[in-house]
Amino acid sequence: AGHGGFDPGAIAATGMYEKRIALAAAREIALRLLATGRYHVVMTRDRDIFLPLRKRVAIARNSGGELFLSIHADSMNDTSVRGTHVYSLSKKASDAEAEALAAKENKADLIAGLNLADYSSDVHTILLDLSQRETNNTSADVANRFVESFADKGIRSLSRPHRQAGFAVLKAPDVPSVLIELGFLSNPRDAAMLATPKGRAPIVEAIVAATENFFATRTAQNQ
Ligand code: ZN
Repeated sequence: AGHGGFDPGAIAATGMYEKRIALAAAREIALRLLATGRYHVVMTRDRDIFLPLRKRVAIARNSGGELFLSIHADSMNDTSVRGTHVYSLSKKASDAEAEALAAKENKADLIAGLNLADYSSDVHTILLDLSQRETNNTSADVANRFVESFADKGIRSLSRPHRQAGFAVLKAPDVPSVLIELGFLSNPRDAAMLATPKGRAPIVEAIVAATENFFATRTAQNQ
């Protein structure tokens, strides 16, 4: 769930906070996934508290996450703009991040199952880069599955619904990560829709369906 504590995120004209909608939607998605009996769901936060971006990524990595979903609702000056959109990490941003990680952190911690102590620094950088590239490709694929799932369920999306940007929360080098904007709180219709469990239900269903689709494909590929 994006935002929390002193960080309310976007604030709708109705006074509604993005952090409340994100947390409610994240809980609904978690319950639906748990109900299938096929997933172990870890919430980076399950209550209204502040959580630094890096901490959210660390929770995803430390819990062995296979998919990281960041749930948000957008806002902009043009109040006529509505619809969902999904972000994956842009190539440029991820390269810079990989370099920063390589420089700052213990790289052995970043690539599971490899004893990097045996390799030179150049090899560390190459391995980290490969891991980040593969993760980025998977993240872009996941973002497209979410976009398709929204279209399948007749949910309104922006005209270019898959976008790429350098969100810090998407920068785990080894966990496929996407950021989902459920809609625009600046738009009265989106704000009203996202305010209730009933209004959110179709989007929640579409997110669960896309998640199921991703893991079903992965399981099939690994057999
Ligand atoms: Zn947000």
